[in-house]
Amino acid sequence: MKISVAGYWGAYPEKDGATSCFVLESEGEVMLLDCGSGAVSALPHITPLEDITDVVVSHRHHDHTADLGALVYSRIVAMELENSDESLNFHVPKAEKDFFEVFNKEPFSKVETYEETDQLTCGSVTLSFMKTDHPVPCMAVRLQEEKRSIVYTADTVYSPELAAFSEGADLIIAECSFYKGQDAARYGHMSSTDAGRLAEEADAGELWLTHLPHFGNHNDLIREAEGEYSGYVQLAFRGLSKEYEENTR
Ligand SMILES: [Zn+2]
Ligand SMILES: [Zn+2]
Repeated sequence: MKISVAGYWGAYPEKDGATSCFVLESEGEVMLLDCGSGAVSALPHITPLEDITDVVVSHRHHDHTADLGALVYSRIVAMELENSDESLNFHVPKAEKDFFEVFNKEPFSKVETYEETDQLTCGSVTLSFMKTDHPVPCMAVRLQEEKRSIVYTADTVYSPELAAFSEGADLIIAECSFYKGQDAARYGHMSSTDAGRLAEEADAGELWLTHLPHFGNHNDLIREAEGEYSGYVQLAFRGLSKEYEENTR
């Protein structure tokens, strides 16, 4: 499996950027994790839009969903031009079904719901979920392929349950909305030290910081996370990717 970053800003995108959007590829299948503001503009740097078949949406906040409508329009154009004959499948938290109804535009796009106990697949990757601590229903996702695993926290407060869900992950892509000492939990988010603690307690192989704030020096986030976590830490950026071959560890 291969995971790539298309958007990494929290709240809104800076110039030429995008908010949360990640591309999962396995055995020729292409799935997005979230589709935030600016994602449709960023995605062609990573994958042709027509190759995307599925989008797993963590929660309804706009920095994770703003470009869903634009993605549907891109598929309408692609199908009219006969560059695609496949519908987009949006997987959304069941509790928020009504919010996403507007994106049901068959035959171009179809909305399906998932719950915490469900599993989805992309190629040979199995996706499982954990409801996070956030002001609206939100799901963290664990990608598992053979012995390899990646966890995307989506938006959340730090919790021991999330560390358990992330146990042994080769890579944790953790939201990091605040700096050390700031009360991230009050806003339903994690700080750099929360992200570091999560990776340490999960004994993760590597930590990427995403959902980045619009203030301060992002390099401080790395240092602060490293204060809690002994593994490798880096900031997400557009095009950052990691590929795991099957049957390797
Ligand atoms: Zn959120
Ligand atoms: Zn967010």
